[in-house]
Formats: sequence, C-alpha cells, structure tokens
Amino acid sequence: MIKTYPFTLDLLPYAYDALEPVIDKETMEIHHGKHHQTYCDNLNKLIGDMIDLQGLSLQELLSSDQLPIKNNAGGVWNHDFFWESMTTPGVSQIENSLKVEIEKAFASVEEFMAKFEAAALGRFGSGWAWLVKNKEGGLEITSTANQDNPLVDGLTPLLAIDVWEHAYYLKYKNKRVDYVKAWWQVVNWDKVEERLSP
Ligand code: MN
Repeated sequence: MIKTYPFTLDLLPYAYDALEPVIDKETMEIHHGKHHQTYCDNLNKLIGDMIDLQGLSLQELLSSDQLPIKNNAGGVWNHDFFWESMTTPGVSQIENSLKVEIEKAFASVEEFMAKFEAAALGRFGSGWAWLVKNKEGGLEITSTANQDNPLVDGLTPLLAIDVWEHAYYLKYKNKRVDYVKAWWQVVNWDKVEERLSP
C-alpha cells in the first residue's frame, strides 16, 4: 500500500497481547501507541509545512536529504514493516521454497539465524537488522542505524528486527541477546515468503 501525507497510524494486525510471552503487551502498547505514533505525528508536522513534499510517498521520503524527514519517515515505514513481520508465537514455519533460498545464501537455516543474530547484536546503539533481497535476487543480511532503511540502497526488505531498547527493555532489560533469540518464535515466515515472491 502506498502511503502519502497526511500519514495515519495503522492498527496492529493482531491484539497487543498476541505476541506474549515473547513480547509483552505493555511493550507493544508503548511501542505502537507512543513510539510509532510519534514518528507519524512528527512526520506530518514536518511535511505539513512543505507543500512541495506532500505528494511524495512514504517510501520516497526515506531518501530525503533532510535528516528529520528521513528519520521520521523511516520510523513510520520500519514499524509498519516490523508489525507485519510478526505473529502469534509458534504458529509460523519456514516453508520449503524460502528454506531453499536461505540455504542457497547461507548454507543452512541455522547459519542464517546465527548471522542475523550477529547483525542484530552487533548494531551499536539503536537500529535494525534485516534480511533483504539484493538486486540479483539473492538473500543478504544487513543492519542499519537509527531508522535508516535498506530500500535506499536498492535492497528489498524481507524481514527486520527492531533493536532499539524501546523494543525490548521492559521485559529483557539490557539483555538484547535474550530478546533476539526469543524473537524467532514470533517471526511470520509466511509474510517473509510473500515479500520474497510477491
Ligand atoms: Mn521501534
């Protein structure tokens, strides 16, 4: 769906407690209702003063040369993507066609998970780790700082984990590693597959 100004916050595709016990209800309420909402509100405030930017899509704003616009557009886009990347714990499995692509790029699912976790844990400060499809159609892992987005580099996002402290601090405190390892239980692999072969 192409979003343009004025931007509105979508409802979550599930209840606030749907990701329990991996991600607790309170974290989801604050993350969606406060953090995500604030990116949306800030972006509207910024674009509200700039009539020449009001026709641009959210995706186009990700590569804005104005840092506050880029950061808040990324905040909106990345969280929309993140919510859709998750589902009730334990209900989603990696199906064969995705598994084949993962094995092609990383040798095994275990190796892929290890590399993805390393990207999530290696991101210093706030940011994201991503599974992306590159221009040749192969899979890669990358990470971005702040609310930056791999689309800007011509990569197609397939899966992302938010490693800002606001994503996990209430439940996992400073243990990002525990959050990242538990997070696999809520990944929506059907969504990843859909993004790989739209
Ligand atoms: Mn976040």
